[in-house]
Amino acid sequence: MSGLALDGLLNIDLHTHSNCSDGVLTPGELVARAAAAGVSVLALTDHDTMTGLAEAQQRAAGLGVRFVPGVEISASWRAQAIHVVGLWIDPADRSLCSALESQGERRRERMRKICAHLAKLGLPGVALLAAVEANPGLPTRAHLANAMVAAGLVSRPDQAFRKYLAAGKPAHFASEWPALAEVVQWIRAAGGVAVLAHPSRYALSAGARRRLLTDFSTAGGAALEVVTGGNGAQHVEAGTALALQHGLMGSVGSDFHDPAHTWNPLGRYLKLPDCVTPVWRSYITKAATP
Ligand code: AMP
Ligand code: MN
Ligand code: MN
Ligand code: MN
Repeated sequence: MSGLALDGLLNIDLHTHSNCSDGVLTPGELVARAAAAGVSVLALTDHDTMTGLAEAQQRAAGLGVRFVPGVEISASWRAQAIHVVGLWIDPADRSLCSALESQGERRRERMRKICAHLAKLGLPGVALLAAVEANPGLPTRAHLANAMVAAGLVSRPDQAFRKYLAAGKPAHFASEWPALAEVVQWIRAAGGVAVLAHPSRYALSAGARRRLLTDFSTAGGAALEVVTGGNGAQHVEAGTALALQHGLMGSVGSDFHDPAHTWNPLGRYLKLPDCVTPVWRSYITKAATP
C-alpha cells in the first residue's frame, strides 16, 4: 500500500499525556480510550518523563494500536520555554533516562520555589505544594493550577495562570530548562525524531518564530507539529508554511490531557495537509510491510 493510501486509513495522534505527568488517565486507560475512539497510531508524550511508556506499550499491543514511544521535553530558547516532542525514542537509552532524571529534579525544585513564593504572597503555599505532590505524576504548573481551583483560590485553571503562574505574573519563575539544541541532541542520541511542539503557542514575533525554527532545524530538529488539538485552520496554515519554509516534516497531535477538555479529544482525525511530509512516513510504511 502506498504511503498516501495508508495515511488515509490511519487515525494518528502523536502528542498525549497520562497521569505520569499532567494528564488524568493512567497510561493504560489512555491507550484504551484512544483505541475506543478509533486511534490507530498513538504516542504517549508525557512532560519530561518516560515512566508511562512500558504500561502504555503493553496495553497498546493487546488492543492492536500501533504505539510510538515519546516524551515532551521542556527546553529553553532565548529565555523562552519551548516544548520538544521526541518520537520513536528508546525508553531504555541510558543518557536520555539520566537527562530526564535531572529534568524531574528541576521540576520538583521549581515547584517548591513557586509554592514558597505563593506563600509570600499570602496564599497557602505549603498546602498547595502538598496537593501537587500528592499526584502520581511529575509536577507541572497544571497540577498547581488544579490545586488552586480545588482550594477555591481561582475558579478555573487558566485563571491561575493568568493571575499567578504565567510569564510576567507574580509567581512565575524564569525557566532554567536546558538549551533547545541540547534537548534535540538527547532525542537524536536516543534514536528519536525531534518535533517542535505547538508552534503557535509561544509568545514570539513572526521574526523570532522564524529564528526559532532555523535554530531548531540547525540543531537537528526534524519536524514541526503542524496540527495541534484545539487549533483552528489559520494555525494549521501558518504551521504548514513554516514547515515548508524550513524543510521540516509535519506531525499531528491532540495534546490530550483530560476527557473533560472538550477542545482536544483523542481520536478526532487530525489531518496533515498533503503538501507536508508526514513525520511518520518511513516508520509506518516500514512497519506495514510484511
Ligand atoms: P509546566 O510544564 O510545568 O510549565 O506546565 C505547563 C502545562 O500547564 C502545560 O503543558 C499545560 O498542560 C498547562 N497550561 C499551560 N498554560 C495553561 C493555561 N493558560 N491554562 C490551563 N493550563 C495551562
Ligand atoms: Mn501539559
Ligand atoms: Mn506543550
Ligand atoms: Mn503536551
